[in-house]
Amino acid sequence: MNIILLGPPGAGKGTQAERLVKERGLLQLSTGDMLRAAVAAKTEVGLRAKTIMDRGDLVSDDVVIQIISDRLDEADAKSGVILDGFPRTVAQAAALDAMLARKGMTLAAVIEIAVDEAALVQRIEKRAAETGGARADDTVETLRNRLSVYRQQTAPIIPYYRDKGALKTVDGMASIDQVSADIAAILDAA
Ligand code: ADP
Repeated sequence: MNIILLGPPGAGKGTQAERLVKERGLLQLSTGDMLRAAVAAKTEVGLRAKTIMDRGDLVSDDVVIQIISDRLDEADAKSGVILDGFPRTVAQAAALDAMLARKGMTLAAVIEIAVDEAALVQRIEKRAAETGGARADDTVETLRNRLSVYRQQTAPIIPYYRDKGALKTVDGMASIDQVSADIAAILDAA
């Protein structure tokens, strides 16, 4: 099954995705991880993406759409993927719909991890402190920009999927285990 995990930075998408990989054998496709790998490898895409990512802005739709499309064509994507960090704009969501149709794939669920913003700022500040700033975009200033980018560009995909009847929402303020249990219930019913 193919699923999307949606939610602002710090909502716990990565943590939940990791659990789903272990428990359901799904493949996690994180556009953030893929872009960071491109930056580290100093590929052409990586070189262009770096400054944008460091600011907390979004890399162009074309670039991430191509990255995901290529990745979905690889053999290991056939048994099911978790999209984490993609789509992040309505244009990406529409491109994903077209791409899945073309590839003969379907979405089993779109799961929104809903959290309140004050808690997010605390979580990300904690993550930044724990990782010693290992990620150039894990700073308080970029976080504020990433949250505002989320509100303006990503949040509109929630009504996009709700209108299609595909959206399921879990309470991301609950414990990690509770969130996992809520997601499991949604996937078992899908
Ligand atoms: P987060 O901690 O917010 O979940 P990610 O690791 O998903 O962050 O992404 C880090 C950065 O990579 C984003 O701030 C953005 O610059 C870029 N990025 C990741 N996914 C996308 C996407 N789907 N569209 C555009 N930019 C993206």
